[in-house]
Amino acid sequence: MSRYTQLVSAPAGERRMRVAVVGAGLAGLTTARVLQDQGHDVVVVEKARGPGGRMATRRHEPWCFDHGAQYFTARDPRFLRHVEAWRERGLVEAWEGRIGVLEGGRILAAGSGTERFVAVPGMSAICRTMAAELADCRFDWQVQSAIFEADAWRLQAGDNSHLEADALVISTPPDQVGPLLPQMFLSESVDQSLQGLDMEPCWALMAVFDRPLLADWDAAFVNEGALSWVCSQASRPARPDAAAWVLHATPQWSRANLEVDAAEAAAGLLDAAHRLPDAACAQTLFETAHRWRFALAREPLDCEALWFGDYRLAVAGDWCAGSRVEGAFLSGAAASGRLLGCGYARPVAAATLTRSGSLD
Ligand SMILES: Cc1cc2nc3c(=O)[nH]c(=O)nc-3n(C[C@H](O)[C@H](O)[C@H](O)COP(=O)(O)OP(=O)(O)OC[C@H]3O[C@@H](n4cnc5c(N)ncnc54)[C@H](O)[C@@H]3O)c2cc1C
Repeated sequence: MSRYTQLVSAPAGERRMRVAVVGAGLAGLTTARVLQDQGHDVVVVEKARGPGGRMATRRHEPWCFDHGAQYFTARDPRFLRHVEAWRERGLVEAWEGRIGVLEGGRILAAGSGTERFVAVPGMSAICRTMAAELADCRFDWQVQSAIFEADAWRLQAGDNSHLEADALVISTPPDQVGPLLPQMFLSESVDQSLQGLDMEPCWALMAVFDRPLLADWDAAFVNEGALSWVCSQASRPARPDAAAWVLHATPQWSRANLEVDAAEAAAGLLDAAHRLPDAACAQTLFETAHRWRFALAREPLDCEALWFGDYRLAVAGDWCAGSRVEGAFLSGAAASGRLLGCGYARPVAAATLTRSGSLD
């Protein structure tokens, strides 16, 4: 403990590390923020056009849909402290929606006592803010390969841009970790740790109707048919007051329809929507579907983050710690802890990473 305290509280300038973080979801951004605050040179690379990953918000003016994570809960005191800070900054609000459970054609109240939070004005707001506060976050930067050679990491993107780093954090879904590591010795040790870890897919329908889909409820967990979740977007704080809904398919339906196109998936899920108790006559004004190929881990690990010390490689993500927003945060924090604790030191002069990815 005293060695760890000494390491994390030493003047940052004496031991700067260049760290590359793959993925600008909550896990990667949490790692990046902690390491940046400790004085390290951190670059986040993300294949999408913006941050957030599965904490996503899609705008189709005038509507707005949170089509990935729906809400989050906070139980661990470390996460609760951050949620409180986000609340104070106006990034998060409690969501007091009327939530039921649909079974046997009837909706009953879901158990009470759970405090649910949503980001405002959309679920992506937390990650957007975190990314904006980082020194170097690059989008449209899809890592093709990460090679550890001559005591450094070299990352290559599809367009031939590259970047070098002393340490690497991969925060992608588990199926996307192995393919980034072409060196057999690395992909084999990572694969061994990920064995048996399956991510379930989820098709999400974003739709607008001429009347509420659920007469007396804002959202429902669905325990029958093709749907698993139905949620009124307008019931959530700071959302436009419109009849916009997000519906999630079950893992079974999503797997069976994994390769259909978005229009076909939307048609199948609309059909399921019209079977909801109050929805038979609802007219659809807009619909589109999104496939989450790697939505949720069926049986998440319980390790917070994987650490391969010989290569200064941490692997993080919600699937290491509970398959939820809270797990993503805790996993990202744990990955930064592994790196801070590894004791790697590099002279300051050699540790400056320029925006182009080359060394000063
Ligand atoms: C449909 C759905 C519903 C959910 N509902 C809830 C809920 O109600 N409550 C809850 O707590 N959680 C929920 N979750 C889970 C929650 O969204 C996740 O736990 C959390 O967002 C995961 O964050 P992460 O940073 O671990 O991963 P991600 O958000 O997946 O971030 C990984 C990032 O890595 C990027 N990436 C991947 N490969 C590369 C590459 N080669 N190069 C560069 N970047 C790459 C991806 O684009 C992505 O942005 C839900 C998820 C889904 C999909």
